[in-house]
Amino acid sequence: MDKSWINLNNRRLPQYEEGVRQFLSFAYATKDVQEKIRCPCKRCNNVLYQSRDDVEADLLQYGFIKDYAIWMLHGEELPDSDSDEDEDEGMIDGHDINEGRENIAGADGYEFFDTQDMSRRRK
Ligand SMILES: [Zn+2]
Repeated sequence: MDKSWINLNNRRLPQYEEGVRQFLSFAYATKDVQEKIRCPCKRCNNVLYQSRDDVEADLLQYGFIKDYAIWMLHGEELPDSDSDEDEDEGMIDGHDINEGRENIAGADGYEFFDTQDMSRRRK
């Protein structure tokens, strides 16, 4: 997704308005229209919750937070190596060699990865 519009200083440009619409449809892809979301405008700073119309008006009036290029507060996954981690998880299968200890080693390993995953998604 092209997000260079976030850094546009002229908020009257059609690219900027198009970007704002793009953001809103992204943020509301999994949400109800009536739901309020964190407003990523410079005034609300992703702290205040606004309705869809208010977010749109804010973004056009105050501008988008410049360093918020990855919309993780609005459902976007961080582009770190999620897939790599899945591979690592498969490699915990060391228990074939040591069947007696598989419960201890296996449980620890999976718990560690699960907690990491969940805390990342909650942010
Ligand atoms: Zn706002």
